[in-house]
Amino acid sequence: MAPAALLVLALSACGQNGDGDDEKTEGATIGIAMPTKSSERWIADGANVKKELEAKGYKVKLVFGEDDPDQQVSQIENLITQGVKALVIAAIDNKSLNNVVQQAADADVPVIAYDRLILGTKNVDYYASFDNERVGEMQGGYIVKKLGLEKGSTKGPFNIELFAGSNDDNNTRYFFRGAMKILQPYLDSKQLVVRSGQTELNRITTLRWDGATAQKRMEDILTSSYKSRKIDAILSPYDGISIGIISALKSDAYGSEAKPWPVITGQDAELASTKSIIAGEQTQTVYKDLRKLAKVTAGMVDAELKGKKPPINDTKSYDNRVKVVPAYLLQPVSVDRSNYEAVLVGGGWYKEDELK
Ligand code: BGC
Repeated sequence: MAPAALLVLALSACGQNGDGDDEKTEGATIGIAMPTKSSERWIADGANVKKELEAKGYKVKLVFGEDDPDQQVSQIENLITQGVKALVIAAIDNKSLNNVVQQAADADVPVIAYDRLILGTKNVDYYASFDNERVGEMQGGYIVKKLGLEKGSTKGPFNIELFAGSNDDNNTRYFFRGAMKILQPYLDSKQLVVRSGQTELNRITTLRWDGATAQKRMEDILTSSYKSRKIDAILSPYDGISIGIISALKSDAYGSEAKPWPVITGQDAELASTKSIIAGEQTQTVYKDLRKLAKVTAGMVDAELKGKKPPINDTKSYDNRVKVVPAYLLQPVSVDRSNYEAVLVGGGWYKEDELK
């Protein structure tokens, strides 16, 4: 493009008052599509992003799918028809949104992928999330540390089972990759042993992160591989999955003197799971401050609509198979019984009373 044309474009992106505002943002409505209300985190995400956008003067239409990809597609189609000026989408199925984000692009509606990347399309402008590989490293690292396996230790063998998230969520492979980076050397040295033999990602995923699905798989594994053995650790990627795993373990008399709780990881610091950590059932979770994610996301929407560049801190990790999506990644925090008060209560996420 000729420099003069670029200049015209740049100028037309700015408002008449010269501070970058334009009529696109005046009373504009932003559409937010969250995946489900069945997990606390997404309810909090919806509320937080709405609040941040409203604080910037936007109107908001917030919808939740019921973990049903078709429903999410039609919800987003409706938002576009209703004239939203930008979309914030946390995908249910990362590959089912290609047509609808094309419709958004045709209507000149930018798309921010919220926490879960949308794959196989050029029509995603930015990605706001956490360092998802780091989440997995924290889960794997916690298990290694808790079992006393850190460098130089010859302890073991310990029995471990592996659970992963939904196979249609792009984050699943990042969490798993991060965890296995840490765990694989111990599997190689046989200090960690997966008695079920189920170690490939496609054998250990949990469709839609469903706790009941994980519970069933844990029950099957206990029956088939742990009749006369004890399980020492379970890699779980998400608190709701950990709850299912813990139910299966309870039915098999874990949590007793003869069968102490294995090390069980998780993610999201959901209320029931934080209480479970305090009670000594679940061992760890990975906390992600969703208030920060909401701020970053609202900033992306606002910058994009005003023709500015939002802050970006990663331009290489999130290739959606058509392009590398510019991202802002926040840092997760590992939480267990020793630091939940400092991190979750001290950080204002929960009040002390809620955890009783
Ligand atoms: C999110 C996790 C969450 C999981 C299940 C993932 O995409 O990054 O925070 O635990 O979905 O809802």
